[in-house]
Amino acid sequence: MSLDQLASRYEKLSNQLDEQYYSQDAGLTYDRELMKKLSSELTEVSREFLAKFTKPRSMYLESISTITQAERLEVELDFHDQRMEKISTDKYTLNGKRVNWGNWRQFNSQTDDSKKRKEVFDEFISKAPSIAQLVEKRMSISREIYKRYGLTPLDAYLEQEQMTYLGLIEFLEKLGEGARNHFLKAADHHAPEILHKSKTEYYDDFYTWRGRIYKPLDRILTDKNPLAAVQKTLKSLGFDLTKIKVDAEDRPNKSPSASCWGINVPNDMRILYRKTSPFEDIGSVFHEFGHGIHGANANADDTVWKRYIVPRSVAETFSILIEDITYDPLFLAQELKLEKTAIQDIVNRVKFMNLAFLTFYATNSIMKTEFWKNNYTVEQAANRWQQLTKRFFIETPGNYWLLHHVMPNYDLYSPSYVIASVRVTAIKQKLASEFGEPWWKNPQAGKYIRELAQTRGEFNIKQWKLDPNNYLKEQIITL
Ligand SMILES: [Zn+2]
Repeated sequence: MSLDQLASRYEKLSNQLDEQYYSQDAGLTYDRELMKKLSSELTEVSREFLAKFTKPRSMYLESISTITQAERLEVELDFHDQRMEKISTDKYTLNGKRVNWGNWRQFNSQTDDSKKRKEVFDEFISKAPSIAQLVEKRMSISREIYKRYGLTPLDAYLEQEQMTYLGLIEFLEKLGEGARNHFLKAADHHAPEILHKSKTEYYDDFYTWRGRIYKPLDRILTDKNPLAAVQKTLKSLGFDLTKIKVDAEDRPNKSPSASCWGINVPNDMRILYRKTSPFEDIGSVFHEFGHGIHGANANADDTVWKRYIVPRSVAETFSILIEDITYDPLFLAQELKLEKTAIQDIVNRVKFMNLAFLTFYATNSIMKTEFWKNNYTVEQAANRWQQLTKRFFIETPGNYWLLHHVMPNYDLYSPSYVIASVRVTAIKQKLASEFGEPWWKNPQAGKYIRELAQTRGEFNIKQWKLDPNNYLKEQIITL
């Protein structure tokens, strides 16, 4: 096949496969056998591309990644099942079901007694080694396949994100160190109200905070309609939303976290969303619509690789930019009609969670970056992660990393959110200075975002300076 034929076959197969994954996430019926078949056909396309071509480079790297995904399929399915089964406790139940890895966050969110949360945390950490071997296996498959092409997953990642190893590490260290003391101070301020104790401790993880800190706000936000709000905002920015479909049905097997799927870019973008809690719903619906407009504004005439192969931090740039509108005091006042004290309260809590995010994701990202550079075993990774928690927040048992939903599941993903958040600060400053406050009401700002979105795989990464101090400055809170 020619390059164009390979690319369009890649598009067709990955569209079909994504539709299956979408259905799985939506709690609809999906076809496991078809998924296996499509994924092995995608591997063939990728192998043929790698045998014949070295360019376009984005397609080259994507082909390696596609092969590793297919080769890991078996071990990842095992990991998915064993984690649910082994990381569980007989001591507690939640809504009639035993507490396991899957409902752990809900348990932490609903359990006010900190002793119980500690007990489950300690038990899960002690059980983490039982899934370590599968993680080791998953990582070595990636390492081995990339090696065939003279690369590591880290090399590919840095190339896509246009960063150097030292540049990335230094960037993460600055953010983690800059956030540390502000986070610890604010954490102790919030601890009595949110954690029901005087001090924050190692088992009060990022997700415990996130699941609990916005609860006091739910009361004032229950009557708000997130879908109506996002559609109104994006239409006033001049976006055409006809290509973005929303599934807001509540089905028992539907994933609790919202998501956006480029089933066909730009013509068929789909958002899945399920009500969880009022404040988080508003943020996540805006976030997913950010992905939606990013895909829907691709140029249908562009090549497959330009439309589909987008660095992760670039994809998250558009979602975080749109999500951030909901934390703007002007938006909270004008669109959600909230009172001044409520607005200040929301802004403080959001900034606190941004600090928590920095300390946690600096730790996660540095460990995962070093993982490939230094060829860590799973055990060495745990030791290193523990050291980093001591440096950036509170020393936490290192095997926690095996229980995270991103770190053991991806080669490298953690830094993308951090990079995107810092880039968004620069973009928002540009939008505000060029189009005024609130920029999100100005169609000219919408036009600017549309043009950025259209660049997809050719997004100019270097245009936006990643300045840790610029981002940190915005997150500091005086309580
Ligand atoms: Zn996202």
